[in-house]
Amino acid sequence: MDQQAIQQRLEEFQQLCRERGLPITVQRRTILEAVLSLENHPTADQVHEAVADRVTGISRTTVYRTLETLVRLGLITKACHPGGTIRYDRRPELHHHLICLYCDEVADISDERFDALPIPDTSGNGFRVCDHRVQLRGVCKKCQAKEEG
Ligand SMILES: [Zn+2]
Ligand SMILES: [Zn+2]
Repeated sequence: MDQQAIQQRLEEFQQLCRERGLPITVQRRTILEAVLSLENHPTADQVHEAVADRVTGISRTTVYRTLETLVRLGLITKACHPGGTIRYDRRPELHHHLICLYCDEVADISDERFDALPIPDTSGNGFRVCDHRVQLRGVCKKCQAKEEG
């Protein structure tokens, strides 16, 4: 992401905070900036590393919590693998996933239409496709109950 795009996103963040009456803390701003600057879907640890010298004494827990807040605000999102760790699946046959963006729950679903999705040609990327899984991303039942409670 170039500097101009990052600046624009940071302004959107400030706008959103004002709308929601949330304080625009240096911490939040710096962490968002780090996520926008780092390539390749950084882990919480990588973000922590990137901000540690700019926000004195910032803990890993604070970085993690702030990242979660930014996710909830819709400013960033989570990519698989959920939680940054490899998830093993006990069902090797073709099926798909419901992924909770808050608690990283991964639930199975089956759908013949997803099974039959045409796979695009990835030879231009030098990529060999082994199989495909559709991920429906959202909020699980438990986390919805927490939100309401
Ligand atoms: Zn959940
Ligand atoms: Zn599964």
